[in-house]
Amino acid sequence: MIRFEDVTKVYDTTSRPALDGVTTEIIRGEFVFLVGPSGSGKSTFIRLVQREERASSGTVYVSGRDVARLSSWRVPHLRRDLGVVFQDFRLLPNKTVFANVAFAMQVLGKRRSLINQTVPEVLQTVGLHDKAHRFPHELSGGEQQRVAIARAVVNKPAILLADEPTGNLDPETSWGIMEVLDTIHQNGTTVVMATHDHEIVNTMRRRVVELEAGKIVRDEAEGGYQPAD
Ligand code: ADP
Ligand code: ADP
Repeated sequence: MIRFEDVTKVYDTTSRPALDGVTTEIIRGEFVFLVGPSGSGKSTFIRLVQREERASSGTVYVSGRDVARLSSWRVPHLRRDLGVVFQDFRLLPNKTVFANVAFAMQVLGKRRSLINQTVPEVLQTVGLHDKAHRFPHELSGGEQQRVAIARAVVNKPAILLADEPTGNLDPETSWGIMEVLDTIHQNGTTVVMATHDHEIVNTMRRRVVELEAGKIVRDEAEGGYQPAD
């Protein structure tokens, strides 16, 4: 599903690589925590999968394709296979919950009838069916993140990438988000979540890939996480 072969990413030749010789594979259906301190390369890993950035050397494969070799008109095809959520939600402030989610289908040219059927279903999955006509500023942080997750999965991507999705949320709200991600995973989506929330990692006991200064220092099937600080 995702394969990194000796991937190095250098943003700035005067500093150390953000990723340094990373080789790993994520199989269809896995739920993987990408852990490590701030600056260890987690976001860079996610940006390389999305082809937001390109590797300086080595190869990134997503669904069997070398993403660096995709022509620019094929990058949107890659991104259709990926849903992405961020720490800061990134909702459209002047659109309702429904419209935020519908927008992701509209840009792919989906029919209105399909949109009107699918959006309420996905809002149900994330527990927000009763807030469809609210605006983002009328929602709590946890609810806004649920909208962002609904938008990320409404086109049924094979892979959901989540970069610190609970980073702005209190512990209780974070657990609600983890339940939603768990449901999406159980529905068959491969989930890769970058986090340094050790409570979540230690409770969920999923595969843990730990980065330190751009290198993978640990990869455990049912791992925990003990941050140094
Ligand atoms: P994490 O997500 O684990 O905090 P990042 O992937 O954001 O780590 O960062 C890894 C390293 O790359 C850090 O040293 C960071 O400063 C650097 N870095 C990240 N993004 C950029 C960028 N756009 N330009 C220059 N350096 C960057
Ligand atoms: P920006 O990306 O600069 O914040 P946009 O208006 O392009 O502003 O996007 C706002 C939000 O809408 C972003 O969070 C983005 O994830 C989402 N979005 C934009 N384009 C698409 C798209 N093609 N498919 C799904 N979501 C999109």
